[in-house]
Amino acid sequence: AKKRGQNKYEFYESAMNTVYTQKLAIEQLLRQAVEQKELDLVYQPKFQLDSGSMVGVEALIRWNSSRIGIVPPAQFIPVAEEAGLIAAVGEWVLQTACAQMKSWHDAGLEPMSIAVNLSAIQLHQEPLVPSILNILETTGLEAKYLELEITENAEMTKSSGMVEMLQSLKQAGVRIAIDDFGTGYSSISYLHKFPVHTLKIDKSFVRGISACPSDSSIIEAIVAMARSLKLNVVAEGVETDQQLACLKSIGCDQAQGYLLCAPLTADKFTDRYVIHAEA
Ligand code: C2E
Ligand code: CA
Ligand code: CA
Ligand code: CA
Repeated sequence: AKKRGQNKYEFYESAMNTVYTQKLAIEQLLRQAVEQKELDLVYQPKFQLDSGSMVGVEALIRWNSSRIGIVPPAQFIPVAEEAGLIAAVGEWVLQTACAQMKSWHDAGLEPMSIAVNLSAIQLHQEPLVPSILNILETTGLEAKYLELEITENAEMTKSSGMVEMLQSLKQAGVRIAIDDFGTGYSSISYLHKFPVHTLKIDKSFVRGISACPSDSSIIEAIVAMARSLKLNVVAEGVETDQQLACLKSIGCDQAQGYLLCAPLTADKFTDRYVIHAEA
């Protein structure tokens, strides 16, 4: 029994070491990735549900490591946050996404917004506002075409500096979307205080609406609330015609998902929506 216990202990220890070693390895490779430009962005359109027209594009980060292959953002963003790399990664994302949208506008894409995901840690790192304003100025993208997607969390709603920071972004013309809406732990009372423009319904709620309308009550409630607060509401993760029809009937404003368009590389987006776009 003693021997067995010991083996068990060793097993746990080595499993922990593996996780720890993996994280260290990812961290080290990520540092190089930032320097060696292994990071990339893909772009996923958002569509207006009543007209069907594209109204914006979300930038999503990709990392194809020469050493370990494709690492999903859900895996490396938390490592970047812990390792103090998120500021550099986040700035690169903002810069690249704004420059890309400006060049699409210049190439004839009907002016629309670019949405950039911000890590909660970025929100607490100074100087975020001057850095964003500087990026808008150097890329030439008008502030009203930048939308920041932030995820609700308890800390955010408690911080008083946060309201001021979001206010100064709003004053500059930048739009704020609450990402993964409904999955956070925070109270929704902050929606009054925060200069929020859009609510993004998390795909976990969209997945549930197979037997419309009975399974769609959460989305109905979110859409009703967005209506009364005069907020724009977007559903993410739309994969089926049934989900799309249901969202339309509920009165959701916009949708995004594999059914409508998967995230595209910049080249593919240009080819599909900028060069070959119908006049
Ligand atoms: P998110 O912001 O909620 O993004 C939605 C995720 O759903 C993306 O995964 C997207 O590729 C995926 N998706 C799009 N359409 C569908 C669909 O129809 N069905 C399903 N099942 N999924 C769909 P991705 O690109 O792997 O990103 C995961 C998360 O990583 C994002 O969740 C976001 O929180 C974070 N992330 C991505 N890019 C960035 C970035 O540049 N900066 C930061 N801080 N976080 C990022
Ligand atoms: Ca997002
Ligand atoms: Ca989400
Ligand atoms: Ca998210």
